[in-house]
Amino acid sequence: MLVVMKAHATEDEIRGVCQKIEKLGYRAHPMPGAQRTAIGITGNKGEVEQGTLEEMPGVQEVIKVSKPYKLVSRDIKEDNTVIRFTGTDVAIGGNGLAIVAGPCAIESREQAFAVAERVSRAGAQFFRGGAYKPRTSPYSFQGLGEEALRIMAEIRQQYGMKIITEAIDNESLDLVEEYADMIQIGARNMQNFSLLKRAGRAKKPVLLKRGMSATLEEFLMAAEYILSEGNYNVALCERGVRTFADHTRNTLDLSVVPAVQRLSHLPILVDPSHGTGKRNKVTPLSRAAVAVGADGLMVEVHNNPDEAMSDGPQSLFPDQFDELMVQVRQIAAVVGRTVPGIGMYEPTAVSK
Ligand code: PEP
Ligand code: MN
Repeated sequence: MLVVMKAHATEDEIRGVCQKIEKLGYRAHPMPGAQRTAIGITGNKGEVEQGTLEEMPGVQEVIKVSKPYKLVSRDIKEDNTVIRFTGTDVAIGGNGLAIVAGPCAIESREQAFAVAERVSRAGAQFFRGGAYKPRTSPYSFQGLGEEALRIMAEIRQQYGMKIITEAIDNESLDLVEEYADMIQIGARNMQNFSLLKRAGRAKKPVLLKRGMSATLEEFLMAAEYILSEGNYNVALCERGVRTFADHTRNTLDLSVVPAVQRLSHLPILVDPSHGTGKRNKVTPLSRAAVAVGADGLMVEVHNNPDEAMSDGPQSLFPDQFDELMVQVRQIAAVVGRTVPGIGMYEPTAVSK
């Protein structure tokens, strides 16, 4: 159920409706928009009695939401969500593309700083690096944990980049929330509902990656878990799905970008690194992702990919990332987007 307020409804009227909803035993989610505020109602088992709400001052109409997802839907919020990072003009979901770059995992202070220096110089506003790595094998490198979080906090201090890193359980989420600027929920945890709820109670924005076999509806429902707990700052990330194709690690589903944008107000990034698993495909698919309308990219970069402790084959060399940024700026201009951050490299012709 959705309460649509009149265009000129006052703060008091909006508060009044929210209080009424809470009094009825439900949860109210006010979503301000450019034209009007809508208030989503969750927590109802059956039908909400419409009459009382409809008669309240400032209410335009009460609508039944037929889709299974409510708060992530464009029905409740027509305008795109823009996630803002306090004290800066850095954003995800606005006209500027969010470029997230960094190594798969933080391996050492030297490695992390070497990569950070290069991606920051190339124009990335967000630095990524795994502190807690969800690995297929229990014998593979699992990440440096809190030490990695401390290194990334230093990187933020030195380069001003915002830090995005993955939480794999409630315990690591507590720490990631403390140190990072944005909490990543990885593909393997997209349907870890207790973790999603915990992320929904976090004070930091969440980057939710698509599960490797998740349908669009499952993806949006996972985001709904986070919003339903009151955290509306969620960005989605397409990172490839499992198909029969074996020329790439996963099949990057770029068609999900316009599909999400039609149904949801949440921003969506694309990760061509995990999406392809192959370094030589990362730049072409970055261009395609920007062309298709993605709100940003997440790209793995390593100072020495051949020695990387995880995902070396898909990690770009820093020079390749420089070139990727040049090309992405060219495509961005074509689709009316900008790439914040000053790159120091001159545009060259788009090459394969
Ligand atoms: C990652 O971004 O570090 C990662 C593990 O990706 P995914 O969850 O998409 O596999
Ligand atoms: Mn990786």
